[in-house]
Amino acid sequence: MNRLIKENYIPLKASDLGENHKLVLILTPGQGLIRIAVFGVKGKKSGSQRALIQPFSLCRGDLYYDPVKKLWRLKEGECLESRDSFHAHLNKYYAALFWSDLIIQTYAGGGSRDFFNLSESLFRDLDQEAEALVPGLFLSSLWDYLALEGIQPETNRCSRCGRPAPANKAVCYSPEGMVVCSRCRIDRLPLLTAPAREFLESVIGKQGLPEVDADTLESLTSYIMTILRTIVRLNMGQESLRIIFK
Ligand SMILES: [Zn+2]
Repeated sequence: MNRLIKENYIPLKASDLGENHKLVLILTPGQGLIRIAVFGVKGKKSGSQRALIQPFSLCRGDLYYDPVKKLWRLKEGECLESRDSFHAHLNKYYAALFWSDLIIQTYAGGGSRDFFNLSESLFRDLDQEAEALVPGLFLSSLWDYLALEGIQPETNRCSRCGRPAPANKAVCYSPEGMVVCSRCRIDRLPLLTAPAREFLESVIGKQGLPEVDADTLESLTSYIMTILRTIVRLNMGQESLRIIFK
């Protein structure tokens, strides 16, 4: 292993390490999710150091792996982008927290570089875009995550018989989130509404984020959470979703 690397990173969570130091969980493009020790970050003269551990910011640092202590440490670093608006907007902050929980529970999406890039751009967009766009940004990133994992379902055809679902129509889906047509359906199943389908299909085409009303949000959220719960156990629940979509 190369013991000294220069790498971008996103701090997620910090805990105390002795009197003056912090142990920080960070997401990196090359190493996935790792803990690093940041020394002297709690002292009086540590103002600039503190920017290096602010959750969700984008930083760059020299990371050194100490094979004896089996510990990564930050030797030097700089903060490239801070996320100042998160303090003022609870829904942005909660969307970031929810995503951070996803990062931790999925071991950084298996540690892929694409997952780092997706996380980095979500945090940046949440910080820079208007509050009204937060739900759309959040849901479209979760949808992209399902694609990265290779489990994003097709919403325009029945998963059982392959029959195409007519455009502008609601579709039913199974407890695994697979689309089921009226011929193949036996039980009562939840509905993905037509506007919710349209949202997901336009997100796939990257045509910019459409406006989402409350009913569409609810349908999208139930659908995406149904699929997410089949692969990951998230700590963040209904209450955090309510804050994100307020
Ligand atoms: Zn069918």
